[in-house]
Order: sequence, then C-alpha cells, then structure tokens
Amino acid sequence: MRLSRYFMPILKENPKEAEIVSHRLMLRAGMIRQQSQGIYSWLPLGKRVLDKVNAIIREEQNRAGAIELSMPTLQSAELWQESGRYDAYGKEMLRIKDRQERPMLYGPTNEEMVTDIFRSSVKSYKDLPLNLYHIQLKFRDEIRPRFGTMRSREFMMKDAYSFDLTREGAEHSYNKMFAAYLRTFDRLGLRAIPMRADTGPIGGNLSHEFIILADTGESEVFCHKDFVGFDIPGENTDFDSVEGLQAIFDKWTSLYAATSEMHDEAAFNAVPEGERLSARGIEVGHIFYFGTKYSEPMGAKVQGPDGKEHFVHMGSYGIGPTRLVPAIIEASHDDNGIIWPASVAPFDVVVINMKAGDQACDDTCELIYAALTKAGKDVLYDDTDDRAGTKFATADLIGVPVQIIAGPRAVANGEVEVKDRKTGARETMTIEAAINRFVA
Ligand code: ATP
Ligand code: MG
Repeated sequence: MRLSRYFMPILKENPKEAEIVSHRLMLRAGMIRQQSQGIYSWLPLGKRVLDKVNAIIREEQNRAGAIELSMPTLQSAELWQESGRYDAYGKEMLRIKDRQERPMLYGPTNEEMVTDIFRSSVKSYKDLPLNLYHIQLKFRDEIRPRFGTMRSREFMMKDAYSFDLTREGAEHSYNKMFAAYLRTFDRLGLRAIPMRADTGPIGGNLSHEFIILADTGESEVFCHKDFVGFDIPGENTDFDSVEGLQAIFDKWTSLYAATSEMHDEAAFNAVPEGERLSARGIEVGHIFYFGTKYSEPMGAKVQGPDGKEHFVHMGSYGIGPTRLVPAIIEASHDDNGIIWPASVAPFDVVVINMKAGDQACDDTCELIYAALTKAGKDVLYDDTDDRAGTKFATADLIGVPVQIIAGPRAVANGEVEVKDRKTGARETMTIEAAINRFVA
C-alpha cells in the first residue's frame, strides 16, 4: 500500500476526550472514528488489525472443532419472549419496531437464536456434540460507554454455542473452548488468565472470565503470580482427548484467580505473600456452561441412545475482538506509539523513503516494495513528500514491527537501514540483505 494513496488520518494533537492510552493511540493513528456515543467506524488501518485478530480467533475456533455460521444482528422479540429474557434484559437492549409494528431488537447476544436454529434441525444425539459460532456485531446500550472501543455500545463479538447430550459431554465442550482461548490470546501476544466467574443459579465452577492484567482495566483482580509463566497448550493439542483437555483445565484452575466479584479474601491470603498478585484487569473473554437454561423453555431436545428425549446441555463462549484491539495496545506501546505484535500488525513492514523525488531513493524503495509485496508481505510504502522526521514519527505511532529506511547517503552505497520498532535497534545492510530478511 502506497501511503500517498491510502486513507490514514493521523492526528497530530492528543485528542482530549481520550482518557486511556489505547483510546488516544487509536484515535491518533487514525484507526477509528466515533460516529455517535459508543458507536465507531473502523478506518482502514484499524480494520486491518481487527481482521487479523478475527483471523486468529477463527483459526483457533476451527481447530477446536467449532463451526462458523452467520446470524443476523436484528432479531425478533418473539424468540426472547420464549426464553423469558425479553422482559428480563432491561434497558441495555435496543428495542426496535418494524413497519408492521412488530417488536424487534438489535441482538445483545445470540443464545435464543442459535437455540432456534438447533431445534429446527437437530433431533438425534448422533449429531452431537455441536458447537456453532459467528463473529458479529452486538448492541448493548451500556450506561457508561467509554475508553473508545474498549467499552462501546455497538461492538463485535465472537460468540460460540455448544450443544451436548449430557453434562459430561458439555464439560468436554467447555474444556475445548478453554484451551482454544488460551491459545488465541497467546497468539495475540497477550497473557490472559482464566478467573472463576459467577455462575448464578446454574451453580458449579464452569464459568471463567479471561482477564488481561493492565493498569487501566476496569476489573479488580487477584491471582497467583505463577499464572504469568504457565505453558500454553500447543498447536498439536488433541481436542478430542477428554483426559488431555481436562488436564489443561485442571492445571490452569489449580491456583487462586478471581475478580473482585468472586474474591475470597481468606483463600487469597492462603497464597504465600510473595506470590500474590493483586492488580487491575481487562475482561477479553468469557465462557459459561448453563445446562438446560435455554433448551428447556425453548424445547431444544434430542433423542438419546435410550430412545428418550433429552434437553440439550449448552454453553456459550464469547470473545470481544473490538475490545481486544485496544487491550493489545494497553499491553504493548511506548511513548512514541503502538508496538504491534507481528501476528496482528496492520502491515508487516513499512518502507520509508526519506527523500521522495530523489531518483536513487525512489528506485530503491520501489524495488524493495515490489520484492516484499511479491513475497506476500503486507507492505506500507511511505512515498509521501513529508519531512523525514514526520515519517519516522508516523511509522513509530502506527507500530509496524519493522521499518526499512532509505535515505540518500545509504542508498548511494547500495544500503538501507532496518529498524526494529520494539527495541529501536537500527542496522545498516545491503538492499538485498534487507529484502532477504523477509523473503528467506
Ligand atoms: P463486561 O463485564 O465487560 O460488561 P460482559 O460480561 O457483559 O462484559 P459478556 O456478555 O461476557 O460481556 O461478553 C463476552 C465478551 O464480549 C466480553 O468478554 C468482552 O470481551 C466483549 N464485550 C462485552 N461487552 C462489551 C462492550 N460493551 N464493548 C466491547 N466489548 C464488549
Ligand atoms: Mg462477562
């Protein structure tokens, strides 16, 4: 992408409305724009990051056996009347009427709809287990939308829903998502700690919030600090192995970890003092087993091996991609701007032409741009006629992991400078060596 033809509205000044660093940097880098309170457009640079986050989420959902579909944002109120939640949900639900005065709503979540899809066609235990997911916009009329897309009214969610014949089956489905979440957040460059969450009237211990430690987080959390060094389940994890996944779950729930809602002071004080971590955190995911809460009122049942009908056991599993993007920035930035982990960076590399219009600089940049693009890299080429200082500031601000800098003096020697955004280390090398670093 040539910057001169791109749309990346950088802000020079710090936006006053932004209270936390991620919000400030997303606005400054031209990633998002607020359209009305808590409702955002994702501008091209932001959209690139969001797409990369979603691609990782999708890969890990698929690896764990979940199947993608797409459900609409607008739902009929009838479904929610069946489950009893239409009245229970309150003001967070945006209620709409269509031209026939039929009550509709902008979905805050999809348990009812997916249960309806399930009951319309699945009739036998032989079709189980089943896990259906989508990545879709949601609307919740939050009392206090804030921090940009961290807590917005319209936001994106990956929501998966599992269906099993028995509670034991549902536990295995739960553990699949538990392991998939650990892998997902790790690939996003984050250390997320599963913390016990309130299960309400369902009871049991099968509800976890995945929390990232960050000073600007809205939740107060308490955990054992060993979680920070725990191993993440590998790529070769066997998601069909009941024992294998149970072992992962057991290990990751063996130490104390709770948000303030579930905090047990006495249990936390039993952790040796030097190993206690009390911090603030951002909830980026939430998984929940809720048994037959929706299948019973909505009549979602299958025939079991005993020939009888059974209400299916369900769970739901959410991740917030539009919250994850700022959460990644909270975890990875410096005074100059964002530092993207390579896995979600909007571009793999930025080529900076320090003297656009200079034949040698132009030729060198074009050569590198073409070679890296051909090698399948996402390349941003700063071919604008801005001052070199402005270009450096922009490259640092938008956080692309590697910068290739072509200035007249180096280019005259057949060389360029390669800068690592994270460490700031600069290295002069031949043009060929700079290309080979990516192509090899
Ligand atoms: P919170 O406690 O932060 O309000 P929640 O418990 O209501 O969130 P869930 O219903 O568990 O959220 O939704 C699953 C995921 O969706 C959350 O873990 C979070 O990543 C994301 N999410 C929820 N609400 C918002 C929001 N208003 N803006 C952005 N992301 C959100
Ligand atoms: Mg939650």
